[in-house]
Amino acid sequence: MNPGSARIRTIVKAMATGEPAQARAGSVRALALALVAGLPLFVSAWVGRRSPGPAFHHYADARGFFGLPHALDVLSNLAFVAAAAAGAVWVWRARDPLLRGLGALLAIAVAIIGVGSALYHRAPDDATLVLDWIPIAVAMTWLLALLLADRVDRRLGIAAAVLLPLGAAATVLTWYAGGGTSGGDMRWYGLVQIEGLLLVPAILLAYPRGALRSGDLWAAVGCFLLMRLLHAHDGAILAATGVSGHSLKHVVAAVATYLALRSLRGAQTGIRIPVSASIDRPAEDGRPVSP
Ligand SMILES: [Zn+2]
Repeated sequence: MNPGSARIRTIVKAMATGEPAQARAGSVRALALALVAGLPLFVSAWVGRRSPGPAFHHYADARGFFGLPHALDVLSNLAFVAAAAAGAVWVWRARDPLLRGLGALLAIAVAIIGVGSALYHRAPDDATLVLDWIPIAVAMTWLLALLLADRVDRRLGIAAAVLLPLGAAATVLTWYAGGGTSGGDMRWYGLVQIEGLLLVPAILLAYPRGALRSGDLWAAVGCFLLMRLLHAHDGAILAATGVSGHSLKHVVAAVATYLALRSLRGAQTGIRIPVSASIDRPAEDGRPVSP
C-alpha cells in the first residue's frame, strides 16, 4: 500500500472515531483530577501544624453498660463488622478479578475499623487512637484504588492500592511519634480524609462510566458529610435523642462503607477487563461502551 494513502486513511479514521478529541478530553480530566488531589496538599502545607490537644479524647457519652465504659461508642462499632460482612456478599459476586480483589481489601479494612475503633473508645488515648485511625486511613485509600481501577486506569488502581496505604499509615504514625495529642501534627491524617472526600466525587464526575454503581458511591459521599455533622454535634444530639452524635456517626460511617462495597453489584457481569485496559470500560448496566 502507498505510505501516503495509508497515512491519510489513519487520519480519516482518527477524525471519524474522534480519537484526538478523546485523547484531549482524557488529558483535561486527568489534569482536573491532579488539581483536585494537589490543592488540599498545598493548603495543608500552608496552614501549618494542627494539634487539637488531649481534649480530643473527650466524648459526650461516657455511660457504661455492664462494666463496659463508653458503652454505646464502643458497641456502635459492631455496625462496621456487619457492613463488612454484608458488603462481602457483593465483593464475592463480582466477576472482575481486580475489582473483586480490591473490594475484598476494602471489606477487610472495614471490619478492622470496627475492631480498632471499639478498642479506642473502650479506653480513649493516643495509642488506641492509632488503632482506630490506621484502618480508617487505609480503607479510604483502598476505596480510592477501587475507584481508580474501575474508572481511570487499572494499573493506576493497583499502584494506588499498594502505595497509598503506606502513606496513609505513615500520616498516623508520624502524628503519634510527634507526641500524639500533646503536640503531634494531625494535619496529614486530616489530609487523607479530605482527599477521599474530594477525590471520590471528582472521579465520579470526571469518569462517569464504569462497572461500579455511581448511585451507591454518591450515597456513600452523602453519608460521609452527615458523619461530620453528627461528630460536630456529639453532645447536643445525645441530649436530644439519648444516643450521642459520635455513636450515630459510627453507624452512618458503617452504612457509607456498606454502600461503597455494594457499588460492586455493578461488576457482576461476565465481562473481564485486562489489567492494561484504561478505556472502553463497560457502562453501569454492564454493556460495553462503544468507542
Ligand atoms: Zn469513634
